[in-house]
Amino acid sequence: MRILILGSGAREHAIILALLDEEAGHEIIAAPGNAGIAASATSSARGSVETIALDPTDRSVVTEYALENDVDLVIIGPEAPLVAGVADALRTRGIPVFGPGKAAAALEGSKTFAKRIMEEANVPTGRARLAETLADVEASIDEFGAPYVVKADGLAAGKGVLVTEDRDAALAHAAHYLQQGPVLVEEFLDGQEVSLFLLSDGTHVLPLSPAQDYKRLRDGDQGPNTGGMGAYSPLPWLDADFGSEAAFVDEVIRTIALPTVKQLADEQTPFIGLLYAGLILTTRGIRVIEFNARFGDPETQVVLPRLATPLSGLLLAASTGGLGGLPRPEFRPDAAVTVVLASEGYPEAPETGRAIEGLDAAASVPGVHIAHAATAIGAVTEPDIDPPLLATGGRVLNVVAVGEDFGEARRRAYEALGHLRLDGGQYRTDIAARVTE
Ligand code: AMP
Repeated sequence: MRILILGSGAREHAIILALLDEEAGHEIIAAPGNAGIAASATSSARGSVETIALDPTDRSVVTEYALENDVDLVIIGPEAPLVAGVADALRTRGIPVFGPGKAAAALEGSKTFAKRIMEEANVPTGRARLAETLADVEASIDEFGAPYVVKADGLAAGKGVLVTEDRDAALAHAAHYLQQGPVLVEEFLDGQEVSLFLLSDGTHVLPLSPAQDYKRLRDGDQGPNTGGMGAYSPLPWLDADFGSEAAFVDEVIRTIALPTVKQLADEQTPFIGLLYAGLILTTRGIRVIEFNARFGDPETQVVLPRLATPLSGLLLAASTGGLGGLPRPEFRPDAAVTVVLASEGYPEAPETGRAIEGLDAAASVPGVHIAHAATAIGAVTEPDIDPPLLATGGRVLNVVAVGEDFGEARRRAYEALGHLRLDGGQYRTDIAARVTE
């Protein structure tokens, strides 16, 4: 297949590596991609990868490109093109696209829309109040009590949610986001978090394997919320709580995924793409804390290396209404761990432009590969010396390690990190520690 993938992060790199791993040998075009994506074809015996400078949020540019180049499938990685309506534009022209239209993507783009859909579909989630004034916020946080959970309604790059014991901090956060519109005050939900990805063709869903991510910047879940500092998959402790991973997944499909997909279909906004259920397992049952409308980052980096079923067939089937009757995707029993290397100053004000060294040594650790997030090749300074690889953003790259068990995967990941050098670079040292203790 000729596959166009929109985006430039480690998630897109992970998707491309999974596609390159298939026997079929695809022709992959990444727009705009990154330095690691551009180089990834060389590590594969099959398929090809090309990166092109194209604005992934520009509906007409993407559509024209896909038509002119006979693209068989478009995969939308990040949320911005979804919210911009790129999937709608492609679908109107008959191009198979993995990603929901603008209306269904509001499941991620608007927390109040998501809450309404869940209410209509009877999907279990935290109690919440929409507050339009600071007085409303005060009344709601006092009703729910501490810890306080205050959420901006729209996309806020991971910064919109504050969970705090500090009432003044909760009010200050609310006051800031009230300038942009109403905010959501939610009851605090206590329990383990699980990310479950479900492929949807608008009617049917197929689950991928669950993962857990680490949102806070520092070890021990300290520091600010980030886009995600690491993840692991599968979740061995689900067996103790639910009997098996399959039993857990069945319950999420029955009580959460199918009712949500049906509600969206009934409202003439079918969800075609990746339904990402962010869940908390409370003592009162599974609750949704958020939906996203695309693959999660960094969970994708640990879910896809374990996928044994060819990814392209699944994504094409979802894009063309063909998931019904397909068997569930299969996963290898391996343990996968990913650790994010971030720039100094992330998430508030990342320092960019610094050189990253040691990649070859890191990637030569058995079971390890590097998924690039914000990297670019620097200028050539001397004719015989390779130009440096530069960090161009907050989350720079992911070390991904697969092993027979979590002990092995974790050791490999941190051994590889020991080879990497980035001035001021930060990473957590406790990713997947809880499943190896
Ligand atoms: P969200 O962007 O809604 O996923 O929220 C970001 C993070 O805040 C989540 O991953 C949770 O760790 C935390 N969070 C959000 N809502 C709640 C809640 N109601 N109770 C406890 N923690 C929450």
